Amino acid sequence: MITDHGLLQILSRSKDATAVYDDENLRIRFANDAMLTIWGKNISVVGKTFEEAIPEIAGQPFGGLLKTVWKTGETYKATEMPATLVIDGEQKTSFFDFEYCAIKNLVGDTIAILHTAADVSDRKHAREQLGIKHIREQELMDELSASSDRIQRANDDLSAINRDLNASNENISRLNTRLLESEMDFRRLVAQAPVAILVFRGPELVIELANPPMLEILHKDASIVGRPILDSMPELRGEPAVALIFEVYRTGKGSNGYDVPVKMMHHGVTEIRYFNFCYRPLLDNGVVVGVMDLAVEVTDQVLARMNLEAIIAEKTTLEENLRANERRLQGILDTMAEGVVIVDHSGRPIYANPMAQKIMGLSETQFLDRAYNDTKWQNERLDGSLLPIENHPMQVVLQTGMAIYDQEIGVVFPDREKIFISVNAAPLIDAHEQVSGCIVTFTDVTNRIKTLREKDDFISVASHELKTPLTSLKASLQILSRLIPADAGMQAKMVQQANRSMDKLSDLVNVLLNTNKVSQGQFQIHKTTFILADLISDCCQHVRTTGTHTVRLEGDLQLEIMADEQLIDQVIVNLVNNAVKYAPDSKDIIIDVRRETDAVKISVTDFGPGIPAEKQKHIFDRYYRAEHNIQVSGIGLGLYICAEIIRKHGGRIGVISELGKGSTLWFTLPLI
Ligand code: ADP
Repeated sequence: MITDHGLLQILSRSKDATAVYDDENLRIRFANDAMLTIWGKNISVVGKTFEEAIPEIAGQPFGGLLKTVWKTGETYKATEMPATLVIDGEQKTSFFDFEYCAIKNLVGDTIAILHTAADVSDRKHAREQLGIKHIREQELMDELSASSDRIQRANDDLSAINRDLNASNENISRLNTRLLESEMDFRRLVAQAPVAILVFRGPELVIELANPPMLEILHKDASIVGRPILDSMPELRGEPAVALIFEVYRTGKGSNGYDVPVKMMHHGVTEIRYFNFCYRPLLDNGVVVGVMDLAVEVTDQVLARMNLEAIIAEKTTLEENLRANERRLQGILDTMAEGVVIVDHSGRPIYANPMAQKIMGLSETQFLDRAYNDTKWQNERLDGSLLPIENHPMQVVLQTGMAIYDQEIGVVFPDREKIFISVNAAPLIDAHEQVSGCIVTFTDVTNRIKTLREKDDFISVASHELKTPLTSLKASLQILSRLIPADAGMQAKMVQQANRSMDKLSDLVNVLLNTNKVSQGQFQIHKTTFILADLISDCCQHVRTTGTHTVRLEGDLQLEIMADEQLIDQVIVNLVNNAVKYAPDSKDIIIDVRRETDAVKISVTDFGPGIPAEKQKHIFDRYYRAEHNIQVSGIGLGLYICAEIIRKHGGRIGVISELGKGSTLWFTLPLI
């Protein structure tokens, strides 16, 4: 049987750290070297209590655990429990696997505790290291997997980007195609646009596009394309419209122009044409690369407008002139010595100048209120007979459209003395060639008519008074000429002379008496039928006798007419005598008898000096005598009497004459 000592010897040999406690105070009975090493103590600790031996253990669980094992008798095992011990003077924590094994006696009481321990610090550290490594590895693994995820995601992103890139590339190529197409579209658009378009590129404005309407405007062909504008059209240098294109290129600001004149060449001729245009910069990424020019030629419109403006200006000037003329005319009318009245187509006055108002003794309103045929005034012929309304000058003009000259009429007022006026009237013709009214000018000839009347009265009285002594004087002279023999020489000659003068004197008195009768309408016509040529032939005898002129009778020499033979004789004698008187140097006198539709026309032609045109209309007036180079006696009554005789027969009388070539005095007689 092994003794306690022997057992302890065995235990001391054990490599495992072993200690034995043999009372409840945990008195160390035994501790082998391994245990002492763990404790950092020497053999002196044997016999001491656990707490005495290892004072630094206080506060750690080991003492308590040992006591529990002692008490309970239950073994306690622990692994890798830390214990802090003072080793070689230094506190050091190590980890231990240990067992507190209660050794019991037969009755079960604890008689000792076998304490075995092993320092597992290294293992623990190793494991811990392993754990850290593992953790690091895990972390690395995690990191790796995170990186993988990231890479995966990056890959995903990349492939998405790739896809996008591909899509973008496709887009770009589509856009490129579209761009190409749209550029072609643009070119097509420009080419087909109905409006003229020029597209310039670069600072020199190189013509890139010029559509047909533009080429037509410029009178150029496609050869201008590809050349700078001023190279292809040097004539445009200095034109403001072209300078503006350069400015648009420079500033990038668009510009519009309206009715802008441009000097252009066509077939070597410079002409100014007008344009409306619109210049727009062409931008590439915000940079001006060219200019587009849209132009519409408005030359015709501008010229038409200018023309219109010129017409309007001309019209304005004309209107101003017209107004000035109107004012002048008004001034003239206001101050005229003649009365002027304008009547409308119905004969109602629409204007009467101050002199007209004065002559008629009416205010303007009174005047404008009265027609020419108003019963408030009565119109008479010069002989005092009533002037039928159809013979009133205004009525004649309005009815016939023919002008009336110097018709003298009397106007009888209810409340003042009768006046005489000499009237000229002319028709006013409208745009449709219709008589729209008439303009009448008249002068107050009352004084002249009165003087004429007084003259007539005097001549009437004088000729009457002369008639009786002349008759007895003529009778005495005839007796005397019979008493004096024809060979009585000087006496006989003087008596003949006295007789001739007496004849002239009595002719003159007869004319004067006749005139008086004629002017007062106091003569009767006694119509008989006779051959006109016979009458003419007879009454020209005296001319043939004197031999100064030859009278040739032409025309219808058999024509018979019905008229007052004596009065017609008087007319023809008068006309032939005038031809002799006023054409002394021309021998020929032609009397022509010509039948017209319902009248006969008798013309007496001489080849003398003729009658000035302005005087022709007056030669049938009473006492009118035109001036002549030659001194011819007369009193201006012959043609007046002729005219009255012809008028009384219902015929017409007139004159055709050219200065220096002769005169034809003619009259007509109606053929019944
Ligand atoms: P008188 O012969 O007495 O002057 P008339 O009445 O016969 O008057 O003629 C009027 C005027 O007409 C004349 O003064 C004359 O100037 C012009 N006259 C008439 N007949 C002729 C004629 N045959 N040639 C030129 N002048 C004429």
